[in-house]
Amino acid sequence: MATKRRSKYTPGDFKFRVGRSASGKGLFTLDMISKGSCIIEYIGKPVSEEVAKRDSGKYLFELFPGKTIDGNIPQNLARYINHACAPNCEALGPRNRVFIYSLKNIPAGSELTYDYGEEFFNKHIQPHGGCKCDTCRPQRLG
Ligand SMILES: [Zn+2]
Repeated sequence: MATKRRSKYTPGDFKFRVGRSASGKGLFTLDMISKGSCIIEYIGKPVSEEVAKRDSGKYLFELFPGKTIDGNIPQNLARYINHACAPNCEALGPRNRVFIYSLKNIPAGSELTYDYGEEFFNKHIQPHGGCKCDTCRPQRLG
């Protein structure tokens, strides 16, 4: 095992599992993650502006206007991270990349979430049954 690097843009050596969550599949951490850690990179293949406009698919991530990646590739574990209105992570990008950072200390076994943003929410979450995050979900399910 190589020495852990602590560069700001180098994800830590965390282990994950993909599991069932209220919003479908979700990404869970098997390790405790302390606040402010770089957790994982959201990777994808670049898509043209036309494709980004046409598809506006669930895994498209606009890095900045005119530059979008499609994260729907097997190597991209971060695509399983669900939206939450009170998330434990945030997505931040230097230049052409996106990394997921912890906003708080996250206990082992927790699901990772970040706020997908208002535009995505209005386009993809609201019209499809609404938000199912812990904050929005009714306490008792019928
Ligand atoms: Zn919500």
